[in-house]
Amino acid sequence: MSERFTPADVAKQLDYCTYCPKMCRHACPVSTTTGRETLIPQAKMDRLNKLRAGVSPWTTENADPLWACTGCRHCTVYCDHANEPGLVLFGGRAEAQRKGVAHPALAGYAERFRARDERLARQGKERFGAARFADSGQVGFWPGCDTVDKGAADVAAAFAVFERVGAEHVRLVDAGLTCAGYPLLAAGLTDLFRWHAGKVAGALRRFRTVVINCSACLYALRGQYDGEGVSVGTEVLSLAEFLAQHASRLSVPATKKSVYYHDPCYLARYAGVIEPPRRVLSQIATVREFGWSRHDTECCGGGGLLPKTAPATADAMARRRLAEVAAGGGGTVVTSCGTCAFMLRRNAPASVEVVDLPTAIAQLTDIPVPLLPASLDDATSG
Ligand code: SF4
Ligand code: SF4
Repeated sequence: MSERFTPADVAKQLDYCTYCPKMCRHACPVSTTTGRETLIPQAKMDRLNKLRAGVSPWTTENADPLWACTGCRHCTVYCDHANEPGLVLFGGRAEAQRKGVAHPALAGYAERFRARDERLARQGKERFGAARFADSGQVGFWPGCDTVDKGAADVAAAFAVFERVGAEHVRLVDAGLTCAGYPLLAAGLTDLFRWHAGKVAGALRRFRTVVINCSACLYALRGQYDGEGVSVGTEVLSLAEFLAQHASRLSVPATKKSVYYHDPCYLARYAGVIEPPRRVLSQIATVREFGWSRHDTECCGGGGLLPKTAPATADAMARRRLAEVAAGGGGTVVTSCGTCAFMLRRNAPASVEVVDLPTAIAQLTDIPVPLLPASLDDATSG
C-alpha cells in the first residue's frame, strides 16, 4: 500500500484537522509527554495548514512543530476520518527542506546518513564475518542500521535461533548498506530516499525472501517504495513473521517465564504485525500485555527522527512507556525492532530488562549465543 497522498488529499486532511475538536489529543505521545498543547496532532496540522496557505511564513521557528512527531499513527486510530497526521507532517517536512527551513539538528543530514550507513556496513562485515553474508540466495536477513550499530548481539542471537529452527541457510544481505532509508523520509529528503531505495531494492530482490528486524525499514519497504516508483520485487517479512513460521521447532521450557511484549508502532499499526511475535513468545513464555498494546500501542520515542530533533522528549517517551512495568515490580520487556530495543534499553529503570526478539528466544530456550568480537558501540552515531 502506498502511503502517498494527492495534494487534494493533503488539503482535505489539513482542513479536517484544523476544524476538529481535537478528538485524538490524548493519543499523541509527544504532546502527552511534553505537556505542550502546541504539539497535539490538531495543532501541528493547523500549523502546517497555515504554512501551506501562506498565512504564516515558512521559517525554521514556524516549522518547528512539524518535527515533533514520530509518525507513530496513534492519532489515526482515534480519527473518524482516518486522517494521517504523521504522514502529512512528514510531507510538510519535505516542503520545509525545499524552503531551507529544516530543523537545525538535521543540518548536513544527507551526508551524515550516507557516512554512517557506509561505516556500519563496513563494520558489520568485519564483526559478523564475511561468511555470514551473501549477495543472493533463498533468505536474506536485513537487521537494520540500529541493530547493526547498537544491537549486534541480537544479530548473533538471530543466527543462533536460525540454526536451531533449521533455517541455517539465512544470510545477511551483502549490499554495502544497512538502512532501507526511513530516516531520509522522516528528514523530508524525498529525492535522496528514492535514490537510496533504488539501491536497497536492487540488493534485496536477489533474494527470494528478505527478513527485516527494523519496523521502520519494513514500513518503508512495504509502504513507501512503491509510491516512489521503486519495486522491491521480493517477499519482505518482519523477523517476527519469519520466526513465527518456525516457532514449532523451538523447545518448550519446563517453566515458562513471564515477559511483557512491546508492539513497535510501525510494526503493529502500519504493517499489521501483531500476532506473529505473540505466537513465537507464547510458545516459550507467558506473554503479559501493556495497558496500551496491539493497535493501541504507545510509541517508544524512536520514530520520526525525534531522537535527533528532540532527544530529551524521545528519551522521556521511552521512560514513560516502561513506567508501567516498573510500577508493577519490574520484569522483562521483549520487542521486535532494533530501534525500539535500543531506545527502551537505554532508558530502562534498574528493575526492567529490555531484549529484542532473537535474544529473548535464545534466553528463554537456552540457545547458546557466541560472543562477537570488538564492540561497535564506541562509534559516533549519525
Ligand atoms: S487526526 Fe482526526 S481526530 Fe485528530 S485532529 Fe485530525 S481530524 Fe481530528
Ligand atoms: S503520528 Fe504519533 S506522534 Fe505524530 S501526531 Fe500522530 S500521535 Fe502524535
